[in-house]
Amino acid sequence: MPGSRPFRLVSAGVVFLGLLALAGCAGTNTHAHGPEPRMAMKPPPINANDQRFADWLTGFRLDATKAGITGSTFDRAMRGIAPDEDVVAADQNQPEFVKPVWEYLRGALSDKRVARGKALLAENSELLDRIEKAYGVDRNVVVAIWGLESNFGDHMGTQSVVRSLATLGFEGRRPDFGRTQLIAALKIIQAGDITPEDMLGSWAGAMGQTQFIPTTYLAHAIDFDGDGRRDIWHSTADTLASTAHYLQVSGWQADGHWGFEVRMPKHFDYALADMSLTKTVAEWRKLGLKRADGRAFPAAVEVEKASLLLPAGYKGPAFLVLNNFRSILVYNASTSYALAVSLLADRFRGQGEITGKWPYDERPLTRSEREELQSLLTAKGYDHGKADGIIGYNTRKAIRSYQQSVGLPPDGYPTESLLERMRAN
Ligand code: CA
Repeated sequence: MPGSRPFRLVSAGVVFLGLLALAGCAGTNTHAHGPEPRMAMKPPPINANDQRFADWLTGFRLDATKAGITGSTFDRAMRGIAPDEDVVAADQNQPEFVKPVWEYLRGALSDKRVARGKALLAENSELLDRIEKAYGVDRNVVVAIWGLESNFGDHMGTQSVVRSLATLGFEGRRPDFGRTQLIAALKIIQAGDITPEDMLGSWAGAMGQTQFIPTTYLAHAIDFDGDGRRDIWHSTADTLASTAHYLQVSGWQADGHWGFEVRMPKHFDYALADMSLTKTVAEWRKLGLKRADGRAFPAAVEVEKASLLLPAGYKGPAFLVLNNFRSILVYNASTSYALAVSLLADRFRGQGEITGKWPYDERPLTRSEREELQSLLTAKGYDHGKADGIIGYNTRKAIRSYQQSVGLPPDGYPTESLLERMRAN
């Protein structure tokens, strides 16, 4: 989901999906379509005629009016809207189990998706020429995002965005998000880009083939086919140009690399594998990092800032990620997602095979195990904030300190064996 960015920087986007996925995979963060399938959970039933919702709607109408929404737009979009209990359930569900990053990547980089992406690149080559010229963003990356966000337009979500956002504004864990996004959605409807009925998306308000949330749409969507409407639901031109434009404003550098799979030397300091730490490629090279394919780093990237990403800890593959990888993280703050986009784009070029081995015997910790790990860290005096089951920056830092104290490679990666060791002493 574009714009999800739990902890960092400026984002037009969704945050709470981010937090869920955070728990999930290797990354600092998360994803809606990513590694984190939600499980159904039955919430208490909501009475559609609930007076509370009617009162909420009255208050919200005032806010919408202040934001420039006319009475007729409001009535047209909100007529007959009642809270959606499936949205409440999805919003409250904190999944216990997560997919390992290698399983997520296997699905994201399936042969079928690679083949379809290649066919669509060929089919839309003239359009992609123009988009590349206008925004300076690599077509392979644009098409890879299209493939991961909506499976090239197949899965845009079937829920009414207005209803989902009204539900989140009324009863969501983050009601301000729902209200802000709903006002943005009403602005889009008022501008005539889409009707309320056709404004379909995910339960969290991610819309169309780009899965933009309404504020991201308002700020970055593009009418590239020139019909006067920004239509990320039906127009391939608008969809691909909107994605390219969003990457461009997120700092994409034309002709830049996303990064490289790398190998570390023996006795490497794994505490350096931290997305919040950057060094130039030349500095990493001096620390003994080499490209996994044995080739030299291109001279152009020597001065570029890069971070070392270990999606599955020190036992798994390693990647040196550059500026363009961070631009993909603006689109969706999950490092697993950004890696999937990068590798899928490489696969379209006939590259992108990983040579490092995944630690298949290390299953990801469940949510309860992550909470237990956090409680054990606290008990041992490693402060990380509250035990919420989310392995964010502070938890990783605390894990590294513990690993260092017992002589383990300080990769900050939570594993079953680490948990067992902490339970034991
Ligand atoms: Ca258009």
